[in-house]
Amino acid sequence: MAIRIGICGAGGRMGRNLIAATREQEELVLAAALERPGSSLIGVDAGELAGEGAIGVTVTDDLPAVLPQLDVVIDFTLPDATVANVQACAEAGVAMVIGTTGLDDEQKRHLRDASARIPVVHAANYSVGVTLTLSLLATAARALGDDYDVEVVEAHHRYKIDAPSGTALRMGEVVAEALGRDLRDCAVYGREGQTGQRDSKTIGFETIRGGDVVGDHTVMFLGLGERMEISHRASSRMTFARGAVRSATWVREQAPGLYDMEDVLGLRSG
Ligand code: NAP
Repeated sequence: MAIRIGICGAGGRMGRNLIAATREQEELVLAAALERPGSSLIGVDAGELAGEGAIGVTVTDDLPAVLPQLDVVIDFTLPDATVANVQACAEAGVAMVIGTTGLDDEQKRHLRDASARIPVVHAANYSVGVTLTLSLLATAARALGDDYDVEVVEAHHRYKIDAPSGTALRMGEVVAEALGRDLRDCAVYGREGQTGQRDSKTIGFETIRGGDVVGDHTVMFLGLGERMEISHRASSRMTFARGAVRSATWVREQAPGLYDMEDVLGLRSG
């Protein structure tokens, strides 16, 4: 039987790609498209948003009303909206795939609470390439150890509202964990003025914003006499959308819990 998908943030940059990616998959059916209350897109046909012509699914702002007709909700919106949506999905027993970034610790706690009742995938980046890059970073950090300084550089389009990107932070977390550090204690966000010499236990983040960059990430391991860089460049949002849609098929079969894209791809080692 077809898996019925609802997309929150359907009119956004990712939402429009998610509509197209859902419709690529025969076993999925787009059953609802949601936007924020008051959006000018309410009542618009979701197919039009994806540039595909009418498909008979109109954009609504009432998630509780459509939840009984859904198997999985995919949410790429804003942190506050995602928290409200995950609570509604937990009430209704509907699984979720969440792509929203920039959540603070309290907002992440709401996701963890909801995941006691429903399966939730939350990944900062749904591309297969970035997910594999995380594994490579852990391997590199373990092999290179504390002798190499670690810096994370990322670039995104001018409209992105959070920094550093969720992907950059996840990369930093993976490296920190592999080195036995806690990113909350060792992250340095940008540098300016009389900074003093670099503290070898820190992990630095630099952010570039501009134009239409879909998402570039480079992690540098800088030693004395050599430098190693691991980079990923996304050229189309469809790579994230297809990963999220793949996660939607996977999450429906899972027990309640909080998962990420490494779980979806079966890369989790322990
Ligand atoms: P965007 O273009 O601003 O899209 C967000 C959409 O959500 C907008 O259409 C917005 O409507 C809508 N929205 C806001 N509140 C809502 C609500 N309560 N209910 C339903 N819809 C609501 O942003 P984007 O570039 O698509 O990115 C969205 C999020 O996904 C960001 O956090 C971004 O960092 C993240 N992202 C994640 C990945 C990944 O792989 N995990 C990849 C790309 C982006 P209005 O514009 O009318 O407010």
